[in-house]
Amino acid sequence: MNVPYTCEICGAQCVGHVNSRYCPECRGEIKKSTQRESKARAARKRRKDPPDQKLTLGQIAARARSLHMSYGEFVAKYGI
Ligand SMILES: [Zn+2]
Repeated sequence: MNVPYTCEICGAQCVGHVNSRYCPECRGEIKKSTQRESKARAARKRRKDPPDQKLTLGQIAARARSLHMSYGEFVAKYGI
């Protein structure tokens, strides 16, 4: 059932679904900006997780050994 509603963004009078909040134009803009935002989020996430942060316990222990440190000392110093 279509009912009249007012777009919450531009205030345009539209007719559509009872739960509609935005006119078709603004809805399109929202879709575009959410897509941009999720792409930006993914890019930020990639930058935040460089591959060398994903060391296994064995790799950390091996690095600690190569620096003549115990695992605990190595973790305390490098905060891994
Ligand atoms: Zn609108």
